[in-house]
Amino acid sequence: MQGKEGPEIRTHQTDQKELGKKRIPLREGLFVMPSRPGEKPCLLGSRCKGCGKMAFPPRSVCSDCYGEELERVPLSAKGQLYTYTIIGYPPPGLTAPYAIGYVDLPEGVRVFSILTEWDQRGLKVGMEVELVLDKFRDDKEGNEILTYKFRPLQEGRES
Ligand code: ZN
Repeated sequence: MQGKEGPEIRTHQTDQKELGKKRIPLREGLFVMPSRPGEKPCLLGSRCKGCGKMAFPPRSVCSDCYGEELERVPLSAKGQLYTYTIIGYPPPGLTAPYAIGYVDLPEGVRVFSILTEWDQRGLKVGMEVELVLDKFRDDKEGNEILTYKFRPLQEGRES
């Protein structure tokens, strides 16, 4: 044994994964991610070429006329909160509490979504909400899995 302080500890390279971290959509074809700053995301719905019926998530067969000619269309980013509920016991990988709800879009589509707010005082049925893309969870490689959510639009409106 020599009077050494023990093996020299080599400092590891800082994890490069942080730098190469990707933002990945939860599911392809559900929403459009902004490609440059200032651009807004939007959901993609389907529109039946036969009867005009819109749907989200996009369908391959129309629920009204059973037509099979449907096209993908961007949906409005703003809508009205139809109803919501607070989740206290989350599925694995999510932290509670959080809120989920239905949002009515001007296209006549009712979208089921996570809401960014969960505090009951911050949510009100009928309030205006706006689409945002937000982290759902991290995957095994440390990439951010993104999903769509709706956030309340505070416009100082008193009821
Ligand atoms: Zn149709």
